[in-house]
Amino acid sequence: MELLTDSFGRVHSYLRVSVTDRCNLRCRYCMPPEGLEWIPRSEVLSFEEIERLVRLFVGIGIAKIRLTGGEPTVRKGIADLISRLSAIAGPVPLWMTTNGTTLAENATTYRRAGLTGVNVSLDSLQRQRYREVTMRDELDRVLLGIDAALEAGFESVKINVVVMAGVNEEEIVDFVELARDRPLHVRFIEFMPFAGNGWSQAKLFPYAAMRERIEGRFPLLSLPGRASDVGKDFTVEGFAGKIGFVTSMTEHFCDGCNRLRLTAEGGLKTCLFSRAERDLRGPMRAGSSDEELAVLIRDELMRKWRGHPPMDRLAQVPNKSMVAIGG
Ligand code: SAM
Ligand code: SF4
Repeated sequence: MELLTDSFGRVHSYLRVSVTDRCNLRCRYCMPPEGLEWIPRSEVLSFEEIERLVRLFVGIGIAKIRLTGGEPTVRKGIADLISRLSAIAGPVPLWMTTNGTTLAENATTYRRAGLTGVNVSLDSLQRQRYREVTMRDELDRVLLGIDAALEAGFESVKINVVVMAGVNEEEIVDFVELARDRPLHVRFIEFMPFAGNGWSQAKLFPYAAMRERIEGRFPLLSLPGRASDVGKDFTVEGFAGKIGFVTSMTEHFCDGCNRLRLTAEGGLKTCLFSRAERDLRGPMRAGSSDEELAVLIRDELMRKWRGHPPMDRLAQVPNKSMVAIGG
């Protein structure tokens, strides 16, 4: 089996594929409040182009794939794409990160099409606050969607909560409660800076403070992890689910980073916080062979930096919005 290695010896085995930059929500931590201009359709990878690249990536060492966006479920024909990609991926698990607004109707279809598991983003359990964060009134549908995902038989259902100081930190314990009776993996994510998302140090609610808040109520028991895991995972005695933290800001995990990102228009990004992007769509449309594309991918990987700048400088690093990168 081939391995995708960078110049620091890190093996990259996890590919996040953005299938659209469009979204039916407008989360204020993810895009500018005025919205963004969508990429013209002709510039977005077709299903055939995504299939070709996924086949190529799996052939050169990718061992886990996640569909993301924008909101992947707003891409027309997403169930068909899942089924085509799961046939290509074979034993390689295929995950999706979604805002959950369409899961109530479609979770079973996605599961039958071959999706391994879902991460559902949800930042408030209170209707008014959910509406303020996402600019849409979709909380009830998302909660139904989570139930549907649990019933659909996915290997795992995770809840992603971006914690923002002064916005939703008081709900952390309520979110932990979600994992009491149901096998949900609730993951708290530190708020990260991206173009136009109003990030400031004051709005960061750090990992240590999240733990303190939870441990006032529930003792957390650490679960073993791997070096490449972005999350630190815990259980609470007697709980059916798990609790996790993604500490990109206060305890970054660059040394164990195993991720690559493919943007909706076919750019390869080797770091979430780097503006560097290698265009794969242009060469693909100009007739490059798979071998030539693989050379481009390996070359870009060799340029990957050791780690992103420290937290206090990250907000100054020019970057796109998360919705356009593919989170
Ligand atoms: N629309 C899908 C969703 O919301 O799950 C997939 C795309 S979204 C960009 C992927 C993930 O990025 C979500 O879990 C979202 O909460 C997270 N995210 C977006 N902006 C973020 C930020 N500024 N800091 C931390 N996480 C962020
Ligand atoms: Fe859309 Fe997901 Fe970004 Fe929210 S986090 S605006 S749902 S892409």
